[in-house]
Amino acid sequence: MFSSSLIRILKIGGSIQKDEKDYELILKKISKYTEEKDYSRHIVVTSAIKNVTNQLLEALQQPDKAVDIVSDIYDKHIRILSKLVDGREFEKAFKDLSKLADELYKIAWSIRVLDEVTPRVKDYFLSFGERLAVIVLSAYLSNNKMDSDKVLVPPLITDENYGEANILFEDSSKHLISILEEINKQVIVVPGFIGLTKQNKYTTIGRGGSDYTATVIGKLLNAREVRLITEVPGIMTADPKKISNTVTIPRLSLEEAIELSQLGAKRLHPRTFDPLFNSNMKVIIEGLYEEGNTVIEGFCTPNDLLKGIVAKDDLQLITIESTRIVGKIGSAAKITDEAKQANVNLVALSQPISETVIQLVINSSDSQRLINRLNQLDLITNIETKDVGAVSIVGCGLRNKEISTKVMNRASSFDPIFISRGLKGVSMTFIVDKRQTDDLAKELHEVVLEWSTK
Ligand code: ASP
Ligand code: MG
Repeated sequence: MFSSSLIRILKIGGSIQKDEKDYELILKKISKYTEEKDYSRHIVVTSAIKNVTNQLLEALQQPDKAVDIVSDIYDKHIRILSKLVDGREFEKAFKDLSKLADELYKIAWSIRVLDEVTPRVKDYFLSFGERLAVIVLSAYLSNNKMDSDKVLVPPLITDENYGEANILFEDSSKHLISILEEINKQVIVVPGFIGLTKQNKYTTIGRGGSDYTATVIGKLLNAREVRLITEVPGIMTADPKKISNTVTIPRLSLEEAIELSQLGAKRLHPRTFDPLFNSNMKVIIEGLYEEGNTVIEGFCTPNDLLKGIVAKDDLQLITIESTRIVGKIGSAAKITDEAKQANVNLVALSQPISETVIQLVINSSDSQRLINRLNQLDLITNIETKDVGAVSIVGCGLRNKEISTKVMNRASSFDPIFISRGLKGVSMTFIVDKRQTDDLAKELHEVVLEWSTK
């Protein structure tokens, strides 16, 4: 039997697996953690190596290129393997990689011939990215005398909701325990992002899902710590590509972390932090190249003030006017149902109590699709559109009147179209004219820096 409290989960991101230098740093990291005496076993969850999931998706979209893309993916893995691994380990891993690549070629050919891909085949195809990565990483660790082994079978059991499969927690727990009992090694490398149905079909759990795989495994095994190792040293106060003076956020409460990931910070899978509810587990997001990390643990405390901002500027505000909406139960439902039918995600929505307008904010790319449908509803008299941006500020401190008033004052000169509050009051989103987005983002980022600690 194993003792679960001594298990730690390490997740290795795809963007930090591009060449042998990256792998050398990864080996150093994993060695450092496995040498710590507090933990006796480590599960290493890996993503597909850099860009491979995107390439696999591209192959599915352009079947005539699928075979070439598969060749390129195979070469990439062999190239990295041959630089890192030698002798018997190389031979074994080479065989494993070639076997998977053969299968992948066959599917690529059949996609090309059939010119059709079902959701199940799509997930099966995508599952190769993570499985190939497991082979390379595991061979490299073994080649460096680490007491390690790999599992190519997905570590989680899911339902059949291909593309965004839901985890079956009890089955996954049994499955994980049997893996740990069977493989008595200090380090076990497993694929992130992919799952297995009870009928042994491959599924995927949504883009960026490896982080979620890691936190779910942590929860199911009662681990105390999950480390997500990535390109940047933690979650930053804003997108450093857009704002110059960003810093790493040292700590996030669970509410803040969920809000930030839902808002799209660092492209985290939106469910990454769900497993932290009702558990003593903490998640640490840390960089491979630079020191620095963000710790996510527990709920809001009085020391949590303002943490960060997220800005989006490719949105459209749709204002739907109708004198017939007033007092008519079900009008809003009709409109939101059209969005659902058109597969359009609603980023924000608002309605004044006069009920004379309904305002929806959606991604600009979805706009035409939704408007075409709305134009067919007779309850609508006029539809107007406007390019807008959304700037969200996140922090438990927003529940404190002094801080929230200050935030609103600073945002007021940008003439917000509407304001909404997020989960448990820990976020505030301002919808503004698209041209104001960058300036408002800078302004609110300054407020975050002023109020980041007490
Ligand atoms: N490889 C998958 C993706 O690119 C999962 C992950 O990286 O977490 O979305
Ligand atoms: Mg990734």
